[in-house]
Amino acid sequence: MRCKKSRNIIIRNGTLITESGKQECDLLVEDGIISDISPEIIKKGVDVFDAIDCYVVPGGIDVHTHMEIPVMGTFSSDSFAEGTKKAISGGTSTIIDFANQEKGKSLSEAYKLWRKKADNHVFCDYGLHLSITDVTTESLHEIDEMIACGVTSFKTFSAYDRMRISSDDLLRVMKKVKEVGGIVTHHAENGDMLNEALGRVVASGDLSVKSHPLAHPVLAEVDAIKTVIRLSKESGCPVYIVHLSSKEGLAEIINAKKNGVKIFAETCPQYLAYNDSVYLVHDFSNLSKFVMSPPLRDGKSQEALWDGVLSGDVDVLATDHCPFTIEQRRVGEKDFRLIPNGMDGVGTRMEYLYNEGVLKRGLSIERYAELTATAPARIFGLYPKKGVLKVGSDADILIIKKNIKFNHKLFYHEKGKYLHRL
Ligand SMILES: [Zn+2]
Repeated sequence: MRCKKSRNIIIRNGTLITESGKQECDLLVEDGIISDISPEIIKKGVDVFDAIDCYVVPGGIDVHTHMEIPVMGTFSSDSFAEGTKKAISGGTSTIIDFANQEKGKSLSEAYKLWRKKADNHVFCDYGLHLSITDVTTESLHEIDEMIACGVTSFKTFSAYDRMRISSDDLLRVMKKVKEVGGIVTHHAENGDMLNEALGRVVASGDLSVKSHPLAHPVLAEVDAIKTVIRLSKESGCPVYIVHLSSKEGLAEIINAKKNGVKIFAETCPQYLAYNDSVYLVHDFSNLSKFVMSPPLRDGKSQEALWDGVLSGDVDVLATDHCPFTIEQRRVGEKDFRLIPNGMDGVGTRMEYLYNEGVLKRGLSIERYAELTATAPARIFGLYPKKGVLKVGSDADILIIKKNIKFNHKLFYHEKGKYLHRL
């Protein structure tokens, strides 16, 4: 782990990745804020960090994490303290986690509960999305209250019977979120199709973990994306698709973008690194790590998502960080439906995309910064405080040695606090 709180320092001789491209400049940090970017900064009494042969990019922003979230009678195994320590050690200086409304309870109860879990425990700055699972007149009104609390993004589900909302409720949420200037993030899988597919798997009698992907057909993702695109057109509300997994889903998003729909695509390292062949070859302890929803898809989807990452059709790389220990997963050894879904990732995203994208696939360092920090900051109301190297921005700065495997140092703003977003 190589990281340090950024108070006062000059970062010298680096290649800065700024909004106007590469700049060979020095960067001055004062009181945790970037105060100057110039070709040669002279200032007495300030520490100097030599970034020769290094890229200097904005600290990573992971907008999709689930720390200590309750799932199927257990909790994801990273607390906010443990998870944010992992983030920092891997070059990520900000996360946005999801507070989940429980059916029958209010949005503000969820918001307060998550603030309690995270405040005074996080090691990096954090924000919250609010998942809406119970659409009532009261919860729609509460969206105003959440905006006042700095929550600008609202997650909706079209799958999971305990979480999903109907299309007409989704439209009501989108109209309200549009009115207040926020964004809807969407878990796109058609729950009816999943239930039907699961019924067929159960009828087949094979409940081993290999059956997990069969219960999540690609068509369910595509159908849910089509629906939310239609509702986005109807409401004018921007929409962000979380953990996009399929080639066909990406094609729908590309098409919608061409037609002027304000839609953003997020994928995660697991969908780039692996494909569904892993479900055939591993033993339970390895294989159960890949129980996630949506599941890994075929090699064509894997390559299409890489193409999207390289071309700009995929807007954001986040992680869906939601780890469980092997003991937690073991309960589903005979019945995959009992395995809590999710995997680790917050600490390895920056490294993965650098090694596999920048070094191996010719991803430009500018796109790297865009996917991991700038686009997330712009989409979720953190820009220009975060996600950019600019005078006045927080000094969350990641320094990466050029031309070798990910070797980094992170300067980050200060001990973490809640971010009131705009
Ligand atoms: Zn998630």
